[in-house]
Amino acid sequence: MTKYVVIGAGIIGFYTTFNLIEKGVSPKDITIIAEYLPGDESINYTSPYAGGNFSCITGDDPDTLAFDKITYLNLQKIQDTLGGPTCGLDKMPSFENWETRPADVKIESLKSYLVDYKETAANDLPKGASFGITFQAWNFNCPKFLANFRTYLEQKRGVTVLRKKLTHVSQAYLPHTKVVINCTGIGAHKLGGVADSKVYPTRGQVVVIKAPHIQENAFLWTADTATYVIKRPYSNDQLILGGFMEKDNWTADTFADQTADILRRTTELHPKILKENPAGSSIEDLEIIRVVSGLRPSRHGGVRIEKEFVDEGKILVHNYGASGYGYQAGFGMGEKAARLALEKSSKL
Ligand SMILES: Cc1cc2nc3c(=O)[nH]c(=O)nc-3n(C[C@H](O)[C@H](O)[C@H](O)COP(=O)(O)OP(=O)(O)OC[C@H]3O[C@@H](n4cnc5c(N)ncnc54)[C@H](O)[C@@H]3O)c2cc1C
Repeated sequence: MTKYVVIGAGIIGFYTTFNLIEKGVSPKDITIIAEYLPGDESINYTSPYAGGNFSCITGDDPDTLAFDKITYLNLQKIQDTLGGPTCGLDKMPSFENWETRPADVKIESLKSYLVDYKETAANDLPKGASFGITFQAWNFNCPKFLANFRTYLEQKRGVTVLRKKLTHVSQAYLPHTKVVINCTGIGAHKLGGVADSKVYPTRGQVVVIKAPHIQENAFLWTADTATYVIKRPYSNDQLILGGFMEKDNWTADTFADQTADILRRTTELHPKILKENPAGSSIEDLEIIRVVSGLRPSRHGGVRIEKEFVDEGKILVHNYGASGYGYQAGFGMGEKAARLALEKSSKL
């Protein structure tokens, strides 16, 4: 009997479902409805395209800082639950750098929980950086992790997963459903009954290369560019190189000039990519596996985690707008959405 429906089988839908179960909801009472499921590829399904790791990409408002921290501190539990690092989630060293020092509130927050947090000495900073840190990050093999998360929820716990495209959010209410949680990502822009005009894409392009010699992450944030190197765990040596942050660009196309720019920037930031490449030390020697683009589900005003009362005492909770940080902040977002979904209300 489906009392709870989660719309969306991206990382936000899965973290939210996990949190509902942790808070006592029987998995048998939960159905996940989604147009796209793990293994699918579509520009309207962002989660498989993420880099994806825990970085310092997020802002410094109190909610976001808390979502990051809660997620970072809960990923060990997720890894253990899904069967250890081969589920597609592992810890990796990260080297993160900024052109301009981030706000103190951000630094203080990161310092309070990141494992092996250390500030980088000025003469060890890469070109273009004035501040940097090293720490242990969480890295995701996104397609593998999503597939394993689905298997855990569906086969090990008994959640129902249903492929269906909804044109209106009201279609998510099955005969016994009291609560729907809307985790539709970029889909929230046009789903009937939601149609949130504040949702917009931040397009990214990444280049995936084979790099057995790289086992770490490197980042450089400047006013105009986001340059990143992310090791994909248990992926047969894949390394993700990025990237771009193009607001309001909906295209799934990829562009050769962006690929060239990404290769130039990432190899300048992390020269070891070329220096220790077994196939040779020029950009042309890199083995490119694929080039892809994805749409980060951004939202003016930030994420929407909000509860609405709809007809006949039914509840609709929204949980979308994770932009470039669904993996690293999404557990915290899912915890809040599940809390809102379950809290007692005089309106019921
Ligand atoms: C290039 C790139 C790099 C990134 N790197 C990172 C990173 O390193 N770390 C990080 O934390 N994040 C990263 N992100 C961001 C991250 O990928 C997103 O925040 C996250 O995937 C959003 O997840 P979601 O579940 O909200 O959306 P999605 O993954 O898009 O899932 C939405 C789900 O809702 C379903 N849906 C939507 N509309 C409907 C409908 N009408 N009917 C039925 N189902 C519907 C879809 O089918 C899908 O199942 C990156 C993103 C990109 C593009």
